[in-house]
Amino acid sequence: MADFDLFVIGAGSGGVRAARIASENGAKVAIAEEYRVGGTCVIRGCIPKKLLVYASHFSEDFEDAKSYGWTVPPATFNWQKLIAAKDQEIARLEGLYHQTLKNNNVRLYEGRAVLKDKNTVQIGDQSTAAETILIATGAAPFIPGIPGAEHAISSNEAFHLGSLPKRVAVVGAGYVAVEFAGIFSGLGSDVTVVYRKDKVLRGFDEDLRDHLTAAMTAKGINFLFNTLIEKIEKTVDGLKVTYSDGDVGEFDVVMYALGRWPSTAGLGLKEIGVKLAKNGAVKVDEYSKTSLDNIYAVGDVTDRINLTPVAIREGHAFALTKYAGIPTSPEHDNVASAVFSQPPLATVGLSEGRARERGLDVDVYSSEFRPLKLTLTARQDKTFIKLIVERGTGVVIGAHMIGTDAPEIIQGVAIAVKAGLTKADFDRTVAIHPTTAEEFVLLKRKR
Ligand code: NDP
Repeated sequence: MADFDLFVIGAGSGGVRAARIASENGAKVAIAEEYRVGGTCVIRGCIPKKLLVYASHFSEDFEDAKSYGWTVPPATFNWQKLIAAKDQEIARLEGLYHQTLKNNNVRLYEGRAVLKDKNTVQIGDQSTAAETILIATGAAPFIPGIPGAEHAISSNEAFHLGSLPKRVAVVGAGYVAVEFAGIFSGLGSDVTVVYRKDKVLRGFDEDLRDHLTAAMTAKGINFLFNTLIEKIEKTVDGLKVTYSDGDVGEFDVVMYALGRWPSTAGLGLKEIGVKLAKNGAVKVDEYSKTSLDNIYAVGDVTDRINLTPVAIREGHAFALTKYAGIPTSPEHDNVASAVFSQPPLATVGLSEGRARERGLDVDVYSSEFRPLKLTLTARQDKTFIKLIVERGTGVVIGAHMIGTDAPEIIQGVAIAVKAGLTKADFDRTVAIHPTTAEEFVLLKRKR
């Protein structure tokens, strides 16, 4: 007889949701966590990142306030105070996650869980058996093995630096890289982004990529494109990096953000016959089932769409399927996402490039403007919005925006895109004036 109906490995967003829903539907559930309950998003991802993004914005806000008649005394910033406040909030959220597990009678094992066979889980010196296992171990950043790699950090450590670095190199140009470049720059660091190609955020709509690259440059972020770091050496002044072209640079912190690897190493998965992809991701079917009948996986460890809300949906769908008798397959189409860069951007549906690659006949509408709030200031930032419309049907198949509040605005637009609404539906929606969002229902200019 098994000790538990379900054993979840990993108490992050996906794992905790699955545990809760399974328990609500009568399952006896345990969960193991080797670090802190809450997972990447809560402990060292989305939430603390967004708090740092808010913090870094004040430098511009104080400047802009002057144009609105405020006298702003010289502002000073205290990194330690920010990190302490952030840590306190993260501890509070972690407590809420613990409470959720407790309220739902989910037994928490604090330690690293390893599979011994398809039903047996070992946590330290304890062993327990479960009918079903859910792998929800997420993914972890990596730093390439160049000489001196031990001097570099990932975003995990960036959340706990003892002081604000004066000079930062951020390596990579994906989500994490551009977000942290904005954070450090807004707080006053001198930031250099080192990237192997020539434009940030590969995979996003080209116009957004161009706008963000230009906007970050205008805010004083340096870019070293088509460049890699070959070695890092510690000096009395900081870190000396040698680039692929032989040039050198000096920094206080070198932060890598080159993506994340699914956390499957050492879990015992391969040994018991769970099929993994080349990058270590657990292979699953549309119900998140692995190659073994009683083992499932959700979230970043499956490397489908690596976003918290998607992991939550996957965990929820798994639990409904398995414990509520409601076969549910998580939807992965038209998932909106945002990058909390400065300016932020957000997107739902197809980019123009992806639509054309698919051979779709599309009309493209776009608009670029200076937001009203900035008209009294010297700031020249532009907001850019874009709709991709399928020509035959008029259905809006992509919506993209870069500029203040883009994530907040695209969340609403995403409902329309998910619902399959047409450009005519957008057009007959009366604008809320004066807003930035109204531009989405006023787009006239076809490109
Ligand atoms: P990304 O996959 O977004 O970006 C990785 C970056 O590193 C790319 O610029 C990539 O270049 C570059 N790169 C990859 N491998 C190498 C290499 N060997 N040498 C040099 N450069 C390399 O990963 P992130 O770490 O930024 O983020 C991880 C995941 O976390 C994302 O996939 C995202 O899903 C999630 N996330 C989501 C956020 C959000 O929703 N706001 C915020 C932060 C993270 P190239 O493009 O050329 O391959």
